[in-house]
Amino acid sequence: MNRIGNELNKLVNRSLDRHVRLAVTGLSRAGKTAFITSLVNQLMHVSTNPRLPLFSAVRDGHLLGAKRVPQIDMHVPRFGYEEGMQSLLSTPPTWPAPTRDVSQTRLALRYKPQRGPLKLLQDTATLYLDIVDYPGEWLLDLPLLDLDFYAWSKQQAQVLKGKRLTLAQDWLALKDTFDPFAPADEALIEKISGFFTEYLYRCKAEGGLHWVQPGRFVLPGELSGAPVLQFFPLVWLDGVTEQQWASAGEDTNLGMLKSRYRYYQQHVVKAFYKEHFSTFDRQIILVDCLQPLNAGPESFNDMRQALDQLMQSFRYGRSSLMRRLFSPRIDKVLFAATKADHVTPEQHPHLVSLLQQLVNEAWQTASFEGIEMDCVSLSSIQATEPGFVEYQGKQMPALRGHTMAGEAKTLYPGDVPKRLPSEAFWQQSGFDFVNFRPLGLQSDEPLPHIRMDKALEYLLGDKLR
Ligand code: GDP
Repeated sequence: MNRIGNELNKLVNRSLDRHVRLAVTGLSRAGKTAFITSLVNQLMHVSTNPRLPLFSAVRDGHLLGAKRVPQIDMHVPRFGYEEGMQSLLSTPPTWPAPTRDVSQTRLALRYKPQRGPLKLLQDTATLYLDIVDYPGEWLLDLPLLDLDFYAWSKQQAQVLKGKRLTLAQDWLALKDTFDPFAPADEALIEKISGFFTEYLYRCKAEGGLHWVQPGRFVLPGELSGAPVLQFFPLVWLDGVTEQQWASAGEDTNLGMLKSRYRYYQQHVVKAFYKEHFSTFDRQIILVDCLQPLNAGPESFNDMRQALDQLMQSFRYGRSSLMRRLFSPRIDKVLFAATKADHVTPEQHPHLVSLLQQLVNEAWQTASFEGIEMDCVSLSSIQATEPGFVEYQGKQMPALRGHTMAGEAKTLYPGDVPKRLPSEAFWQQSGFDFVNFRPLGLQSDEPLPHIRMDKALEYLLGDKLR
């Protein structure tokens, strides 16, 4: 009888154990790797972690502990938590190396259920948490599913101005070597695609720009070097009519570009949404608002445009592209302004309201049917300590930390604008921050952070009741 009871209990446990897939994204260097490393670290320390007062499951003592367990999706690379912690614990501490592809890690969270059938049937339950990390650049590709190669080329031609036009010169210089109606020449296409890809890299690295399409070209992951990443928009075909364009044979240069573009749409963009995106339950989108404030108006506006594009993946209105193609199930999205420790604490509310403004348009679109959204500012791994300095007889807020080169520094990085920055802001442009290295810490203490507990409460609080 006892044995049957035990078996029954196990069965109940198994069927009632629950599972949540939390996706973490953001453009490159937004802070995904730091965020996931901290998230896992905070959860691994729940029983002794005094730094999570806003996370109700820990505050009220319902979350008993967390353990890392083998992930189920064998084909997705593992997130390098140990490697990240090793970097942070080394002397001097360094930042974890970022991941460049999708990666995943799984935690089992043991908790005391507080309500519902679980409370009646079990003393403790397990919530399996899959944390999936993927580059935000991949979301910039969603609109490609609605554009054929002609329309995409036209769109790319329209954005070639300012910094982009300057950075594109080497690629554009090859236009006379390319006859779209000549027999397909793979080597030539590979060469010109190389220059186009270089242009995209330079947009990010030199131009401080974020909106780059196709997103996989700059973060290729396992597709690096594959022909599916060898095509480019034909931005210089003003004299060719749409009809001529459509009638180009499969065996021409243009035919090859079109077929690679279609392959990219079907096997790269669609596959990501089908295999990954449509399996996510919760999403956090990390945004580094501070770097574009440092870099200037073009970079800032470009990030805004990139965020708008990225948000299209969360428009689930009936007629939306998303709904037509996939059945997404994300019910909560959190936007987080990262690296809040780069600015003094009284600026944190400004950071949140700036982020709110950045995502507001898309947020307001009523098509966010049934998705809850919120904004926070946080620091995944706090690298500075706030304090005050005396300046002209007054106490002024300041930050203290060590630069990457190890030099101790106390500074006031500047005011964060509460609203989208005006012309006047850019003219005064008093904003300037330096990169700090992480604080040194002991291996048994949780990572210092700002408001990770608020993010945890929003993303997981209801799942642990
Ligand atoms: P990813 O490309 O989105 O994975 O970005 P990372 O997590 O690698 O972060 C990029 C860089 O931003 C790191 O190397 C750090 O220099 C910095 N960073 C990330 N999170 C924080 C944070 O919470 N505080 C500070 N001061 N810097 C951070």
